[in-house]
Amino acid sequence: MGKTYRVAAIAGDGIGKEVLPEGMRAVETAAAKFGLEIEFTSFDWASCDYYLQHGQMMPDDWFETLKGFDAIYFGAVGWPATVPDHISLWGSLIKFRREFDQYVNLRPVRLLPGVPCPLANRKPGDIDFFVVRENTEGEYSSVGGRMFAGTEREFVLQEAVFTRHGVDRILKFAFELAEGRPRRKLTAATKSNGISISMPYWDERVEEMAKSHPGVSWDRQHIDILSARFVMQPDRFDVVVASNLFGDILSDLGPACTGTIGMAPSANLNPERRFPSLFEPVHGSAPDIFGKGIANPVAMIWSGAMMLDFLGNGDAAFKAAHDAIIAAIETVLTQGPRTPDIGGTAGTAEVGKAIAAAI
Ligand code: ATP
Ligand code: MG
Repeated sequence: MGKTYRVAAIAGDGIGKEVLPEGMRAVETAAAKFGLEIEFTSFDWASCDYYLQHGQMMPDDWFETLKGFDAIYFGAVGWPATVPDHISLWGSLIKFRREFDQYVNLRPVRLLPGVPCPLANRKPGDIDFFVVRENTEGEYSSVGGRMFAGTEREFVLQEAVFTRHGVDRILKFAFELAEGRPRRKLTAATKSNGISISMPYWDERVEEMAKSHPGVSWDRQHIDILSARFVMQPDRFDVVVASNLFGDILSDLGPACTGTIGMAPSANLNPERRFPSLFEPVHGSAPDIFGKGIANPVAMIWSGAMMLDFLGNGDAAFKAAHDAIIAAIETVLTQGPRTPDIGGTAGTAEVGKAIAAAI
């Protein structure tokens, strides 16, 4: 008997409540097939429903409750009609990312079969890379302020913070990810021709990190041309690493290049495993389709595959479970059923069950 992995399942709001059960179904099916022990515990907080009843998004002891779990499997949070996004997001997801030091935001960008690609003449296999975003520092600091508000002399300043610790750990993660991939390529996003202090520092640290990863071929690209190349030549990328702001933009642009937002997965990782990592679809709670049962569950299910891969930490059975989920997603995307966002007529549960059956 192997170790039992404990996963906190948090549906959140809107279609999070519809897609999470399908993700759990896929993970449980793959776990049973490959002899993995995954134990889910569900929580109804980190949701706007909870906020409306309790005046806060989560109970006071959320940190103590979750910190012993191996992972958090998260649906979506936000219901702007009743709770402003800054309250719902900052009261839940952003707390998880910060308090659990999930400093890597990892997003695969891969064109899957049977999905209309917004870029012309691209087929599955042409686009297959990762965006690695620094998730804790950089441009998103709250250091700064306003002076002379409302006057002609109004003055606003906001600092960016780059620490050696913060920069090196994200670069190390990205180089190691590249090392484990067939093409072993890394591209670092920069803007050292315009941002004259922090970005040259970032470049310097990339160069230094490259020295200890000689098997990886790497380059630096300014964020403007890099964004253009995501659209023009996505086949040239393998692992793309970027600071918080640039990574934020690239990690939406990348998945947008491969089709619907309903299919893009993501992981917020604490690679040292001191705290649980969090796996969630890129999409939000989609109030416009909630309740219709037509949300695409693929992003949630794919995020579950990433979770198994991370939990296994190189273990062959976990890798096999990951691969089986991806293969099942590809089979169902090719043969159907499909949800309406990608031209089908099927519902969330029908697609989820088909993927589980294919696993
Ligand atoms: P966020 O909450 O991340 O800020 P948002 O609220 O602006 O994002 P989403 O909730 O992701 O956006 O929804 C954006 C659009 O994409 C909506 O029209 C929604 O219906 C659609 N969408 C999102 N997720 C899915 C899905 N899984 N399946 C089908 N359509 C989806
Ligand atoms: Mg939203």
